[in-house]
Amino acid sequence: MQLKTILNRCHKFKSFVYDQARFVGEAIEVTVLPRANAKAMCSHCAEPAPVYDHLAERRFEFIPIWGYRVFFLYRMRRVDCRDCGVKVERVPWARGKRELTDTYQQFLAHWAEKLSWLEVARSFRTSWEKVFQAVEFVVQWGLEHRDLSQVTALGVDEIAWRHGHNYLTLVDQIDADNTRLLWIGKDRTMKTLLRFFHFFGEQRSLKLQYVCSDMWKPYLKVIKKKAANALNILDRFHIVAKLNKAIDEVRAGEHRQLQKDGYEPVLKNSRWCLLKRKENLTEKQEAKLKDLLQYNLKSVRAYLLKEDFDGFWGYVSAAWAGKFLDRWCTRVMRSKIEPMKKVAKTMRAHKPLILNWFKAKKALSKALSSGVVEGLNNKAKVTTRNSYGFRTYRGAEIALYHALGNLPKPPMAHRFC
Ligand SMILES: [Zn+2]
Repeated sequence: MQLKTILNRCHKFKSFVYDQARFVGEAIEVTVLPRANAKAMCSHCAEPAPVYDHLAERRFEFIPIWGYRVFFLYRMRRVDCRDCGVKVERVPWARGKRELTDTYQQFLAHWAEKLSWLEVARSFRTSWEKVFQAVEFVVQWGLEHRDLSQVTALGVDEIAWRHGHNYLTLVDQIDADNTRLLWIGKDRTMKTLLRFFHFFGEQRSLKLQYVCSDMWKPYLKVIKKKAANALNILDRFHIVAKLNKAIDEVRAGEHRQLQKDGYEPVLKNSRWCLLKRKENLTEKQEAKLKDLLQYNLKSVRAYLLKEDFDGFWGYVSAAWAGKFLDRWCTRVMRSKIEPMKKVAKTMRAHKPLILNWFKAKKALSKALSSGVVEGLNNKAKVTTRNSYGFRTYRGAEIALYHALGNLPKPPMAHRFC
């Protein structure tokens, strides 16, 4: 069987034919010729046009086979288009000045869902930049072809980026039947979120029923203004994160104080015992926690306050939950633990928004109970953590859309992977 036969089976084009295939060093080169009676097409308007002249031969990289890189060789023609003038012709296997064929780009992008970009580059003996280009191509196609008409619930979130000095704002769709990353923006300012709503459009924004967010003021303001018909909900995950941050602050301060005063360092290695959910503790951490709870420490009291707050989410009625919240805040304010008091103050100030959680619970039960926002946030962190390669904003943006955007893919006549 010839290579030509295989190519004609999996990668055939109406107006072009495969000619000879041969080894050149460790690569296979396949010559492509235009079919005798087929017309060339203008790359600008996609209409057929008479041939003007021929350009020098170009190489297009295709999927490697059995460890050999594969290239198509083709002399691009220029056409004299009635509407556009003299233009390079359009070829169906690649676009613009790209060296990689569309199919090879989809192939690389497919593997980039499973491996890091560097691993993909090494596995297929190509460069990191080529993998980036490939993923960018597929993401771009997906963004242009995705359907945004059925979005009714949004989650607004942020992640630290580049060693925590910068933030990215992430907007997710959190509808029961579709959860995906919709949009990424630099920083976490009012302007950032305004840019999202500008992109999303007024009509779609007014159709939004729920927007789930953090207590971050710039976000709250913009959501109120732009998603006027939506119920703004403060996500459980964000509230727990705030409590955890306060506990961490208390623990770190107290640990330092104990050491300074020459006490036994009981809080050493206690960080995760106090922050993790009980059911996620390792045996060792559980023993440590049990031990800690015997001490009368600020950290322990802060931890117990956080644990108590968990009862809040079990309420069915917003009114009763509101009473619980009041009682809890009063206790925290009496605790004399400053970082916790700060959280309680913020929560008091946002009580109506926090109670919206109970109004949305039914409609968004899946998203709110299974922690969709939290899940997407964690995946986003993992995606950006391998920061080498994502030093540029564009790199991080493309990687995040690729991993979390649930984007449609360009159609392929044959499944190569
Ligand atoms: Zn044209």
